[in-house]
Amino acid sequence: MQKGEGQKLVADAMLVKMARWLRLFGVSVKEIKYKNDKMILAYVKRNDATLLTCDRTAYQMARKRRIGCIFIPNMDFDHQLAYVFKALGRAPKINRLRCTLCNRQIMPISKSFAKSHNTPANALRQNNKFYYCSACKKIYWHGSHWVHIRKRAWRVKDILSSRPILGSLPQPRPR
Ligand SMILES: [Zn+2]
Repeated sequence: MQKGEGQKLVADAMLVKMARWLRLFGVSVKEIKYKNDKMILAYVKRNDATLLTCDRTAYQMARKRRIGCIFIPNMDFDHQLAYVFKALGRAPKINRLRCTLCNRQIMPISKSFAKSHNTPANALRQNNKFYYCSACKKIYWHGSHWVHIRKRAWRVKDILSSRPILGSLPQPRPR
């Protein structure tokens, strides 16, 4: 398994927000709900994945067991995101095809389907493209939050391109 696109990522329960933003930015991330570090690490190892964690103990245990792990330091959220992208060797790319809740692919749907599934009237008025996650029964469209998402993508790219703050990254285990 190569670094980057094909790398399987698993986020621990502390990183729900991080996992959602990574999905918005094109990275596939699973969330894991186990509370116990050993169970989390066993899961990550079994799936040949890389753990995202802000728990130093879990990170040290992963290193000892030679399990892929990215430790996210305590920084502001934009820098944390940039840190993860740097570790993955990727840049944020706004993704419209993945459910931010469950990580599954979302499907383009018709406006009438969106209308029949309780999409707010103003969203129907202002948009023509809608997407659907059949697992979460959630409809997606490009609402006003889209500006917020684009701005964050710019900030993260800015951090990635302008500062050598990320020089001494703990890298995922080479494969
Ligand atoms: Zn979903």
